[in-house]
Amino acid sequence: MAFFAARDVETTLSCPSCAQALHIARSCHEVFLRCPACRAKYPLQQFIHKADAAMENFLENVYCDRI
Ligand SMILES: [Zn+2]
Repeated sequence: MAFFAARDVETTLSCPSCAQALHIARSCHEVFLRCPACRAKYPLQQFIHKADAAMENFLENVYCDRI
């Protein structure tokens, strides 16, 4: 049965480089923030202290996915 949790969700955080909305995304082994506008990629740790609801929901799904 497929797991339909999103792998890429738009957040309310702004990209430090271009001020566009950052997306939270994950690969197989890591979660990171990425900017679709300028293709920048940032470590989650850099933004975790200002995580918004979209990020928190995303991270909950990541943890569920590992069980
Ligand atoms: Zn950007």
